Amino acid sequence: MLLDVDGVLNPLRRSSPSFRRHTVVVDGAPYQVMLDPRHGPRLLELARATGADLAWATTWEDHANEEIAPRIGLPRLPVIPVMGDPASNSGEHMKTRAIAKYVRRRPFVWFDDILDQADHDYLDRHPGVGDFLLVKVDSRFGLTAGHLGQARRWLSRGVQA
Ligand SMILES: [Mg+2]
Repeated sequence: MLLDVDGVLNPLRRSSPSFRRHTVVVDGAPYQVMLDPRHGPRLLELARATGADLAWATTWEDHANEEIAPRIGLPRLPVIPVMGDPASNSGEHMKTRAIAKYVRRRPFVWFDDILDQADHDYLDRHPGVGDFLLVKVDSRFGLTAGHLGQARRWLSRGVQA
């Protein structure tokens, strides 16, 4: 399961009373983020129940481990380097090529607020990419139980109850 931060764990609005505002400092610059401490336990439970691993797919890169993970109860996670690629001209997200390189045919769910058909098409055509589910999150509200349920059903597909 690949996790974005802004718009997913840090929505634009305080969409439930459990969100807490934090000021974090990254490379000397302060950022306001809004985080729900329930997200970490819910993601960890989903990972455990489905046998999935978690990784960061965010421009926060390793700052997500320092500033986001401890505030929502996640351990340090592997970081997909997404900042190195030059801009694309074929419409896919700047992260999409980095993810295609990272997954090495492992099935994955990607939670992000910026995903469209170009990302789907790029991943579909890439020889290093197997099965995947793109879960587009509304940046106003962030990651919801509905998104986690979608991921759970997909990760559990083919598993007999
Ligand atoms: Mg985002």
